[in-house]
Amino acid sequence: MDDQVLLFDDDTPEATEAKVWKILTVDDDPDFQRATAFSLNGMQILNGHIELTQAFSYREAAMLLAERHDIALIFLDVVMETDDAGLRLIRVLREVIGNAEVRVVLLTGEPGMAPVRDVMANYDINDYWTKSELSAERLRTVLTGGIRAYSQLRAVARARRGLQMIVESSNALFCSHNRRELSAKILSEIASVLDVHAEGIVCVRVDEPTGGGRPDPVRIISASGRFTQSIDNTLEDLNQPEVEVLIQRCLAEQKTLQLDHCTVLFFSRFQAGADYACYVATGRGLDDTELELLKVFSVSISRGLYNVSLFSRLEEMAYQDDLLKIPNRNALIRMLDMVLQSNSRSHQVLVMIDVDNFSGVNTAFGTGYGDFILGLVAKRLREAFDGGVLVARVRDDVFAVLGPESEVSAKAIVGLFRRSRRPYELGQVHSLSSVTLGLGEFIGSASVALQSAHLALKQAKGQGHDQHVLYDPQLQTEHAESYRMLLALRDAVDAGRIGIELQPQVDMQSGKVIGVETLARWYREDGTLIPPMSFIPLAETTGYILPLGDYLLRLSFAEAAKLTAAGFPDIRVAVNVSAPQLLQHDFVERFQSHLDAAGVEARQIEIEITESVAMRSFDTVCEQLRKLRVMGVSVAIDDFGTGFSSLSYLRRLPADRLKIDRSFVSEIGEVEDRQLIAAAVIQIASRVGMQVIAEGVENQEQADWMIAHGCIEAQGYLIARPMPGERLLEWLRAWPGRLA
Ligand code: C2E
Ligand code: CA
Ligand code: CA
Repeated sequence: MDDQVLLFDDDTPEATEAKVWKILTVDDDPDFQRATAFSLNGMQILNGHIELTQAFSYREAAMLLAERHDIALIFLDVVMETDDAGLRLIRVLREVIGNAEVRVVLLTGEPGMAPVRDVMANYDINDYWTKSELSAERLRTVLTGGIRAYSQLRAVARARRGLQMIVESSNALFCSHNRRELSAKILSEIASVLDVHAEGIVCVRVDEPTGGGRPDPVRIISASGRFTQSIDNTLEDLNQPEVEVLIQRCLAEQKTLQLDHCTVLFFSRFQAGADYACYVATGRGLDDTELELLKVFSVSISRGLYNVSLFSRLEEMAYQDDLLKIPNRNALIRMLDMVLQSNSRSHQVLVMIDVDNFSGVNTAFGTGYGDFILGLVAKRLREAFDGGVLVARVRDDVFAVLGPESEVSAKAIVGLFRRSRRPYELGQVHSLSSVTLGLGEFIGSASVALQSAHLALKQAKGQGHDQHVLYDPQLQTEHAESYRMLLALRDAVDAGRIGIELQPQVDMQSGKVIGVETLARWYREDGTLIPPMSFIPLAETTGYILPLGDYLLRLSFAEAAKLTAAGFPDIRVAVNVSAPQLLQHDFVERFQSHLDAAGVEARQIEIEITESVAMRSFDTVCEQLRKLRVMGVSVAIDDFGTGFSSLSYLRRLPADRLKIDRSFVSEIGEVEDRQLIAAAVIQIASRVGMQVIAEGVENQEQADWMIAHGCIEAQGYLIARPMPGERLLEWLRAWPGRLA
């Protein structure tokens, strides 16, 4: 082993405890028994005195040996009841009772009765003497040799057992991942290796900058027996001056101390990651074997402690918020999962808190100030709760508090930041919002719980500042439903059950078909339809619209190619494009490559984007639209009139056509002021030089009104419902070239 690991005092005094050597004499001759007892009386051998037990028959001896395993040496008369009784006793002793350590000295009455040599060897018999040869002086020599052999055998056996235990104990140590658990194990394992009552302390010197040149504090991280109460205290609070002095000495001298009633093991920071002292009240001095064992075990302990410090550093990195030094989202998820799996979940709540207008503060006062606010929130929350409550930072300015509902409530948390006069005591931050999620009824994993709470919080904040809501479990079923829907949608795309239908657009004056709009269709296996309004928005919010949109573009372009092939190259194909699609940086390139693949010219295609999309990220959208128009693609603004865009923006928007939203068209002939809006839209379109088309034209009155107000193009059930590509070709061939 590495001697540097432990600096045991080499001049450790030998254990001074008085020893007793137990001797058994087995003989049916009372005179010999008496004489031997007399000779042994008061005899000192190897620092111990003799304690004699006598047996007068083999039977008595056998019973005695079966019960007692502490006898060091047996004087055994070979010939007693029968000739072989002595040998039988030895066989029983070694093979049945299994005592290999006790030494045996055979005695006979007369010379010439010596047992055969292989019996001596097989049964590990030390010596053979005739009784007459055994003078008091020789008795001493024989005893000394036998007892020495016995104690060596014992030491070896104990060391072997001890090593076995160390292997097992070390395994136990390596399973520990936290310091407290490990140090508790260290105490109990040392106690079992040494076979003493577990009573001790494990301390660590905490590396903390303490002012005024004072030594770093020593913290008690584990304690057993009479010290149990002192866990987590500093050494100074122990109130056991002599123990304290020893531990301080051990740490100051950086070495293990060996005393006659205790051992203080030292583990250095180089091997264990920090300086540790482990005080074990042994109640006695340790013998050489035990010291050796402890040295070996100490290597394992050092390694265990080092592992733990490594582990906790890794943990810190993975589970701690860098900025605020409090648990992060990972830590919260881990704890939340534990709570969700426990029986106590019904009384636990998760409160998620959001600092209102934090990004505003960050922008206005700088990130330094933002960090300061976050620090304040973290500190106030941490101080308000004890160890049974987890305070974590989820992300940015979102915190979470997880704990029993008796201790954790949104009201109390918000109260931490309120002051009597001013509403909140948080610098320039004036309010917080929160959502409270009871874990009792919650179904699903921790990350689902976090997402759900977060979503609910976002929704609540949509209502304004200082919002405090309870999580509605109904929301969860909606989320679960959406999730299932999304999976089904993906399967439907794979199975080719997503298709498109096409709806004609006509010039109402000339009767010419000028275009078709492609509309996504999801056909269930039974042939029924799922309307796009129930899957397109879901695809948009989950990002699935990107692959789905690509797929729909390809279907649409394929229809455009078919139209050309069928002799309708001038019918424009209008495709709906969602915001996330359009905002992809490579959207234009993808668009072009799909066109190329289908062999379709760009001028045959129109894209429809909604007014709200056009007005969001205005500059980026304009940039993309401009590139598309350069290619030859035309641009229509869908659902126009619902977004209240300003005229100046509209002027700058690179678009060809405005589509008057269906809602205005449908109210023609009914509500006066809605008609005014439709009329205004048509005027705006001509002022900014765009074409205008009415969608959702269902009856002749609406069509007439549109023509009368200058909107010539129309799309709607009056002309045709959306239909599959095959049917469209038939419809086109049958189209009379005018409205009925
Ligand atoms: P939108 O772009 O405004 O499409 C027009 C919707 O009005 C279509 O509904 C069409 O079937 C319906 N419609 C047409 N004429 C009439 C009429 O005379 N009366 C009435 N009541 N309705 C009429 P649909 O197909 O259910 O599509 C709904 C929305 O789904 C579309 O609104 C569009 O926003 C979205 N959508 C459909 N297909 C796609 C697509 O391929 N990509 C994207 N991104 N969105 C799509
Ligand atoms: Ca549309
Ligand atoms: Ca529309």
